[in-house]
Amino acid sequence: MIILETVGRIHSFETCGTVDGPGIRVVIFMQGCYLRCKYCHNPDTWNMNNGNIYTVEETLSEILKYEVFMKKSGGGVTISGGEPLLQAKFLEKLFIELKKKNINIAIDTSGNIDYNRVKDTIQYVDLFLLDIKSMYSENHFELTKAKLELTLKFLENIDKLNKVIWLRHVFIPGITGSEDELIRIKNLKKNYKSITKIEILPFHKIGEYKWEEMGYEYTLKEQREPTAKEIKIANEIIK
Ligand code: SF4
Repeated sequence: MIILETVGRIHSFETCGTVDGPGIRVVIFMQGCYLRCKYCHNPDTWNMNNGNIYTVEETLSEILKYEVFMKKSGGGVTISGGEPLLQAKFLEKLFIELKKKNINIAIDTSGNIDYNRVKDTIQYVDLFLLDIKSMYSENHFELTKAKLELTLKFLENIDKLNKVIWLRHVFIPGITGSEDELIRIKNLKKNYKSITKIEILPFHKIGEYKWEEMGYEYTLKEQREPTAKEIKIANEIIK
């Protein structure tokens, strides 16, 4: 008999990832997300009923194939998605096994979830890659169909755990990344001691074809991507 909490729905694995945390990483894209970010690259992760079912043991054995690379490079595992914390119970069991092997754990999350529902899971996380989609409530909701306040509350709670937090912000010219917004993000770093880094991610349309394949309307079709100069200026503001 399969116990539900010991299986997870996984969209895909990516090996040798180098952008989602330090060192070489195995990145696991979990299935399921209830946000609807207009720029999402992975709308194929949204539906919780899709993806492949893996047991904790199967997931672990995929990860451990790369144990040497992860450890030699100072890397580890990054759990992304989708919203990984929707499968918190499965991840908790996986994390317990990863910690027995002394493997670094990062989680890429919107933080748009009730902290109390996931606190047992995230105690094992070493690094949070927390997406700040917008610092304005209305804009956040318009962009994601979710409330900024829940993410900020999550941030307040994880800051107390004495882990490492990197904030990530997708820069979409004319929609996110104004000087005022970047200063608000920078101020989060002043207010929360666990934040050690802010990453500005340029908006791009690599996921657009997936929206079309899935029959969803991609509303940012006409939106331009930021220039290198805009990203440079943004990085100077948050420095
Ligand atoms: S939180 Fe991530 S997976 Fe979910 S809709 Fe937004 S970008 Fe896509």
